[in-house]
Amino acid sequence: MQKLNTRQRTLAAAIEFSGYGVHSGQPVNLMISSAPIDSGYLICRTLEKGAVTAPVKVHFSRVSRTTLCTTLDLGDGISVATIEHVTSALSGMGVDNALITIDGGECPILDGSARPFAEAILRVGLEIQPAQRKFLKIMRAVTARNNDAFAALEPYNGRSFDLEIDFDSKIIGRQRMIFDWTLRRYYDDVSRARTFGFARDAKILRQAGYALGSSLDNSITVHEDHVLNPGGLRYEDEFVRHKLLDAIGDLSLGGLPIWGRFHSYKGGHALNAHVLTGLFSREDNYEIVDADDLPLEFQAFDEQLEGLTINQYLRPVR
Ligand SMILES: [Zn+2]
Repeated sequence: MQKLNTRQRTLAAAIEFSGYGVHSGQPVNLMISSAPIDSGYLICRTLEKGAVTAPVKVHFSRVSRTTLCTTLDLGDGISVATIEHVTSALSGMGVDNALITIDGGECPILDGSARPFAEAILRVGLEIQPAQRKFLKIMRAVTARNNDAFAALEPYNGRSFDLEIDFDSKIIGRQRMIFDWTLRRYYDDVSRARTFGFARDAKILRQAGYALGSSLDNSITVHEDHVLNPGGLRYEDEFVRHKLLDAIGDLSLGGLPIWGRFHSYKGGHALNAHVLTGLFSREDNYEIVDADDLPLEFQAFDEQLEGLTINQYLRPVR
């Protein structure tokens, strides 16, 4: 049974979402379905009259913008914004291969977190595929910098994250999160963290065409020393947890799960994309390794998610 843990996984059934883009304010439908071994995450966009673009790999080399969200260029002038919460859920929930089909230019924001995606993935479960999982093992430290902000990938025997943020806001201030990835920890401690913004910025953002779909139902809104959302925060340090959620999504654009440590200070989508560019700029910065060659005890088999054991979540092919 232990060997199943090292095999690739895809969704056991398709999952569908309808909502609005947080920036565009436009309605959109998104489906995530299974994909063959070694596909990674693929994305295609349905156009008018049922036409669909050819699926392309969700990859950092396709990132065209990192202003407030991560936007992918699918070619032929077609783009998809705010992909990071979808890829965060896929990566965080241990999915290797998936096809994302979307009928608009921005992924639905839903509740502003990755929980609706993660919950749907958990509900359908993962199908084990007949190939080894592969990991991107960090061999040399790589750092991307912007003034005092940085994002770094470092060699480490596991999957670890160390993020710190520092906002000029009493309710946020400095927050740090050190996180060793497991399915349960991602689901419980990260996936529910919502995106956030400041009430003082709302007018300027909207005039610039951003945040047109944002509301208290999908974004934490900070005003002076409190949040405007009636229910308050989901975690006391929800802000840094959302930055971790974003980083997990952005880093999955490397194409394979990372085996190493991610370290960032005041990071964001741009630095996350830059550190991947830096990683792939030299071949000796990384190695692609089979899961069988890694100590995978980090993914404990006795974990439970919403009453499901990991063995119930991962389903061998019939
Ligand atoms: Zn986000």
